[in-house]
Amino acid sequence: MLDNKPFTMTCAGCGKDFVLSQEALVERPRDNVSGHQNVVETLMVCSHCSREDHAYFMTAKLVRFRTTLQVRQKELHTLKTQRALKQWRRAKKRHQVEFDRVQAQLRPLFGLESPTAVLEGQGGS
Ligand SMILES: [Zn+2]
Repeated sequence: MLDNKPFTMTCAGCGKDFVLSQEALVERPRDNVSGHQNVVETLMVCSHCSREDHAYFMTAKLVRFRTTLQVRQKELHTLKTQRALKQWRRAKKRHQVEFDRVQAQLRPLFGLESPTAVLEGQGGS
């Protein structure tokens, strides 16, 4: 699946491509904000110039949803039933919805723009 394909990013600082591996991601605890517990910001670090760029936020709730998703995924692999597939899909959807909600709520609070919003804004306004 995704694991075989290295995902590369172009650094906004030096313009070089770097592989978005586990080593390129660093986690930094941030202050808890309005209803979000254990806020952790994940940053992408350029392997060429060490520039740090925001990737996404994690919260306690999001970690729980992600754990559930991982459990459902394992069940799907071993059970291979329609029921397991349904539960995995539901967990995936819930995680995606919460992930988007968290990013949308926290980015403005920490003065960050969505990477996609920046892209969408080009050529627009
Ligand atoms: Zn760089």
